[in-house]
Amino acid sequence: MNIFEEDLNDTITFWEKIKNIFRGKSLWMLHYCTGCGAVELPPTMTARFDMERLGMGPMATPRQADVLLITGYLSVKTLRRVIYTYEQMMTPKYLVGFGSCTLNGGIYYDSYAVIDRLDYYLPVDLYVAGCMPRPEAIMNTFKTLENMITKGEANGWKKYVENYDWYRNNQIRSLGEVYVKDEFHE
Ligand code: SF4
Repeated sequence: MNIFEEDLNDTITFWEKIKNIFRGKSLWMLHYCTGCGAVELPPTMTARFDMERLGMGPMATPRQADVLLITGYLSVKTLRRVIYTYEQMMTPKYLVGFGSCTLNGGIYYDSYAVIDRLDYYLPVDLYVAGCMPRPEAIMNTFKTLENMITKGEANGWKKYVENYDWYRNNQIRSLGEVYVKDEFHE
């Protein structure tokens, strides 16, 4: 049974599935270049790997981007800016962590200045393997993300809303009261 036969009696689900197909094929990414993994993005975007041929391209502002890339380790100070950036993005939105630093702190796992798990603070949809990830791994991750979006499985942004108190408590635990009293928040 294909998508068209499956949901003829469920208009909302049907159109949501159609929208997901198009969403997956047009991914505008905002790359927040915090770590060394960022150096593999230019070859991924330019002639040799040419990610744009697959409908993926860079975007300049959070409000117009679909995907936020965190390209490596995150200092506590930078985490604050990354949270603001993610919260400015329109839904549906997707978060991709680059390399082992976003997964478990990588070589900075015991540093006092760097967070060791991005998913404590924001909902990561997918990680790119490697230290640093090669363009092939980046392309593969984007194709996986496209498949997840098409199937309605890239739902980190919903998880963030549903579990906001948990994320916010983790954010405040690391960032302290400065975060709460920041000019961008209440
Ligand atoms: S995972 Fe490796 S390449 Fe990426 S930021 Fe960490 S140390 Fe750098």
